[in-house]
Amino acid sequence: MECLFCKIARGEVPATIVYQDETCVAFSDIDPRSPVHLLVVPREHIPSLAAVDAEHEPLLGHLLHVVSKIATEKKLTAGFRVVVNTGVEGGQTLPHLHLHLLGGRAMHWPPG
Ligand code: AMP
Ligand code: ZN
Repeated sequence: MECLFCKIARGEVPATIVYQDETCVAFSDIDPRSPVHLLVVPREHIPSLAAVDAEHEPLLGHLLHVVSKIATEKKLTAGFRVVVNTGVEGGQTLPHLHLHLLGGRAMHWPPG
């Protein structure tokens, strides 16, 4: 599978991994947009949030729980933002589902 995030999840492409378990990997974004900017990625290749179905519900819940645990670990007590860019108009550039965890500064609303 010639997918960058699949390769990172398999350890074939280096990344700064901050958390991993049997279903997902979390690592630093290579182009951070905030002091803390991590990506939480399922090991399963799912192209986007638009491609999930009922069987993915436990996985999706797990990914959010992992985000919450990492935010606590990173002491993001003032808050943080979770972003799932989806599709062309959603700003998705890599076709493997990923959750951005952004924190360490005040966020703006609405996002651009
Ligand atoms: P998106 O635009 O939502 O699809 O997010 C893709 C993200 O992947 C961007 O924030 C990129 O900076 C990030 N990215 C691209 N290549 C790498 C890499 N090799 N390691 C870590 N993050 C990456
Ligand atoms: Zn993939």
